[in-house]
Amino acid sequence: GQCAAVCPTGAIVIKNDSARVWKALDEKETRVSVQIAPAVRVALGKELGIGDGENAMGLIVAALRRMGFNEVFDTSTGADLTVLEESAEFLARLGKGEHEMPLFTSCCPAWVSYAEKNEPEVVKNLSTCRSPMQMFAAVIKEHHKHSPRKHVHVAVMPCTAKKAEAAREEFRGELGPDVDYVITTQELIQMIKESGIVFSELEPEAVDMPFGTMSGAGVIFGVTGGVTEAVLRRVISDKSAAALRTIAFKGVRGGEGIKVATVKYGDRELKIAVVSGLGNAHELIKRIKEGEHYDFVEVMACPGGCVCGAGQPFILREGKVSRAKGLYSADKMSSIKRSEENPLMLSLYSGLLKGRVHELLHVHYHAKEA
Ligand code: SF4
Repeated sequence: GQCAAVCPTGAIVIKNDSARVWKALDEKETRVSVQIAPAVRVALGKELGIGDGENAMGLIVAALRRMGFNEVFDTSTGADLTVLEESAEFLARLGKGEHEMPLFTSCCPAWVSYAEKNEPEVVKNLSTCRSPMQMFAAVIKEHHKHSPRKHVHVAVMPCTAKKAEAAREEFRGELGPDVDYVITTQELIQMIKESGIVFSELEPEAVDMPFGTMSGAGVIFGVTGGVTEAVLRRVISDKSAAALRTIAFKGVRGGEGIKVATVKYGDRELKIAVVSGLGNAHELIKRIKEGEHYDFVEVMACPGGCVCGAGQPFILREGKVSRAKGLYSADKMSSIKRSEENPLMLSLYSGLLKGRVHELLHVHYHAKEA
């Protein structure tokens, strides 16, 4: 019942990148942009004088601006791209037949590297979608590509596994890695303290344009079941509020390690599994090998999802629930519920991403020797 305080993969060399980020912020001519993951905003809590689970996104944005970041964005915007790409991939596979299923999510890098090493048979079923962090970084780097100004992109993430993901060969563009530095929530807290900012006294601020809109579906990526719920919102054609509630109550919400749900899609029944914890992933894969059928499987390495990532301040069970609640109420407060309703998506697909979706938003993972 407690959140993991250690890296779930146990194999990652944890390095603190805050010194490098301070150095980039000191270089006047360098543009430093930053994206903040959904789970971070509900975890700064006690350390900075506000309640755990309280949504501090506006305060984080204000703090990062005072620290010298030139552009502040929300990874939920990147998650909207992931939802659209992953839904399209899911429907394309479904169209090819049962043998192509299930589609496994790939936005948790600790799960991806575990699968590459330990579950070679499922690697071909891993989604080719880059994680929200990597999709968004590729878009932001592309947007500034022709500017003469040096550009450093930073991501504030709930885990150290994201540092290893950012360093992967697959995610290097012409000018270097798409994400230059990843700092964890704990490193961010440290940096805010070092800068002398009184966090609880800041006025909340909004993120920057042109990437300033996101949907509630993108925000719930930070909790186990969130990716599934976001994809189902996109796939299910009934767009009523009642349909949204049905998806929420289908069993994808809640903290159990393996959740199974059935969702109607046309004349088919889609079988969905939501898994958190790598032991549970191994267990579910065993069940699949023994003949159980699934169409969509979400895997998050941390029990409870990213709200309990190893880069987050440690909490007990109650804290886990309040962080999840914080993200669900942020979703409730957003006027845009579904990723496809985010107006930015339309302009990205008809502009910057035109003809480049595969190159900027996808990746192919391969099984590795254990
Ligand atoms: Fe990182 Fe854990 Fe989230 Fe995976 S589930 S992305 S390891 S915080």
